[in-house]
Amino acid sequence: MERKQKPSAAPWVPETRNLNRLREASKNCEGCGLYQNATRTVFGEGGRNARVILVGEQPGDEEDIQGRPFVGPAGKLLNRALEAAAVDRSELYVTNAVKHFKFEPRGKRRIHAKPNVAEISACRPWLEAEVAAVKPQLIVAMGSTAARSVMGRETRVMTERGHFLPHDRAESALITVHPSALLRIPEHDRREAEWGLFVRDLGMINEWLKKHPIG
Ligand code: SF4
Repeated sequence: MERKQKPSAAPWVPETRNLNRLREASKNCEGCGLYQNATRTVFGEGGRNARVILVGEQPGDEEDIQGRPFVGPAGKLLNRALEAAAVDRSELYVTNAVKHFKFEPRGKRRIHAKPNVAEISACRPWLEAEVAAVKPQLIVAMGSTAARSVMGRETRVMTERGHFLPHDRAESALITVHPSALLRIPEHDRREAEWGLFVRDLGMINEWLKKHPIG
């Protein structure tokens, strides 16, 4: 009996550390079913010598249209939080664990749907290729999807956040929440408290960079 193969981006990922070649190749990926309804692959962007990679969950509606990561409401909130933490986004490489937008249509709207474990694992070869190309010292995973992909295991974001963790592809990994989680908190006080914790976590990027100067 023929055994069904697990979904994986691996056959589409070229053996290269050239980010432009990877980005081009990712446009044709059919490693899981998510390419079928999304507009385009949204690959990471940023300096190829960035010392820090910031990983989110997946592109949202706006990212799917523009083809760039973190340009929608969550991206704007991330920009504000990075600014508050005095972290320069232009010095980071920013990407997502899953490169196609997963959504459910509701009338004219496309509502975000969380990628499942098979989709996260299918898309992981792209993240691994980005990490191999950029060779970051620190990988920051925002939210449970990113944390699962970065750590290669299930994580508990709320207990593991805010600590430098060992990682086999970088000197350290850091877990924090996804900025979209803050957008979903209705109560003002709790949103403010979570905002403070998010900025604190992002501030650890600078702390880490200062303790690990280049050369
Ligand atoms: S989500 Fe990832 S694995 Fe799935 S089709 Fe898109 S790029 Fe390929």
